[in-house]
Amino acid sequence: MKTKQALSTLFLSLCSVISLQAQTQIIAHRGYWDKFGSAQNSLSSLDNAVTFGAYGSELDVHMTKDGVMVLNHDDAYQGVEIQTATYAELSTLRLANGEPLPTLQQCIDAVKKQSQTKLIVEIKTHASAEADARAAAETVRLINEGGIAGMVDYISFSEHVCKALIKLNPKHRVAYLNGEKSPATLKAEGYWGLDYEWSILKEKHPEWIAEAKALGLTTNVWTVNNVEQMQYFISQGIDFITTNNPQLLKGLLSK
Ligand code: MG
Repeated sequence: MKTKQALSTLFLSLCSVISLQAQTQIIAHRGYWDKFGSAQNSLSSLDNAVTFGAYGSELDVHMTKDGVMVLNHDDAYQGVEIQTATYAELSTLRLANGEPLPTLQQCIDAVKKQSQTKLIVEIKTHASAEADARAAAETVRLINEGGIAGMVDYISFSEHVCKALIKLNPKHRVAYLNGEKSPATLKAEGYWGLDYEWSILKEKHPEWIAEAKALGLTTNVWTVNNVEQMQYFISQGIDFITTNNPQLLKGLLSK
């Protein structure tokens, strides 16, 4: 009888571990920037995501003309094209909260101080396949030299970037953003997962979350900011939700 009880307790604790692992994780889109004194893609937004305890803090990186990986969402900031400017030219610009444009190196240095929140590094599309591959290689070099390879997931809209990352190391956790590849194609091409816009996973291909899971791919959706959509994707058992509102999502997940 005691053995039966012990087995039953073991079974229940295993179930709770499995369900904990399966819970949707929070990724702060461009950091947790929607707070006083912060800005998108800033060191402050990364710091807020870490303090909040997000699974990951997403950021966008471009390579400057002189090979420095710099954070910014758009191709240009205040009229200056990042990929054709030098870092010295960009370093005079200020974000909305007064910070200089951060470098990826500064984010690596910041994230090393803790072990909970990962960097979700989006490598932006560059002018050519070669430039994409150079940006991917430089990003990987910085991350490896920073000793945080286990703390980074990679994402990109660029197939050239993703292919270069997978070729550099098939164990790199690379998720594709552009939305047109089926889970079977992603699996065959060596991807870790998909990271698609909400309408693709909710309206165009609602079957892809389950298909991806069955293939052992991770599933991530962007950018989900309202309760109804959050609840839908939580109910689908999605692995990650990328959001501008981490606090709202945390509230739903703790119910
Ligand atoms: Mg991004």
